Amino acid sequence: MNSMLEDFDKRVISCRKCPRLVKYATETKKYNKKNEFVNEKYWCKPVPSFGSLDSTLLIVGLAPGKHGAGRTGRPFTGDFAGEILYKALYESGLSNIKKSISKSDELKLKKVRISNAVRCAPPQNKPTNNEIINCRPFLIEEIRMMTKLKYILALGSLAHKQILQCIGEKQASYKFQHNIKHKFPNLKWELVNSYHTSRYNINTKRLTYEMFLEVVKELNH
Ligand code: SF4
Repeated sequence: MNSMLEDFDKRVISCRKCPRLVKYATETKKYNKKNEFVNEKYWCKPVPSFGSLDSTLLIVGLAPGKHGAGRTGRPFTGDFAGEILYKALYESGLSNIKKSISKSDELKLKKVRISNAVRCAPPQNKPTNNEIINCRPFLIEEIRMMTKLKYILALGSLAHKQILQCIGEKQASYKFQHNIKHKFPNLKWELVNSYHTSRYNINTKRLTYEMFLEVVKELNH
């Protein structure tokens, strides 16, 4: 399993299918208008998933944030969306500490793997259709390798659509709705929807921390 994971991660990190995103990844640091993290070396590559392939829960976000995962190289690490996500995982018994700071910290996930629909940071958090399609095979492969899966938690409608495309299901039959579980014929896992833990969603109160915690707590089996 470990060599399978290493091979998969290597292929993700070395992927260059989307020229716009490859270029953007190498330039993310210059978009840091607040001049935070000035002394840090940015990751500047596609961001591999975090957590064991033996996990029962796969969490799928939209894409790495340019100064979060795009900087640290670990999904949801180093930005606001990640603070909400990792706190909820900790409070649901799914990790050992409530913060994810860097790839070299002490954080260990329990039965959880965290990924993204698109594995490179896109400008304005908006990948193009082609970029979404380009990245889909990684998620298809990841889902196939996770033989113990019980739930996939889609954070936001783009992740939801990408997962449906991965399994050949239609959006019209499985509409995105917060805190809803979708079952599929012939699949052992269920697709769970939540609004994304983005700063925008929290600031506008579309999603509160308590709403998100309620969703995550249900998935610790
Ligand atoms: S977004 Fe996905 S397919 Fe495109 S370059 Fe990054 S890893 Fe490769």
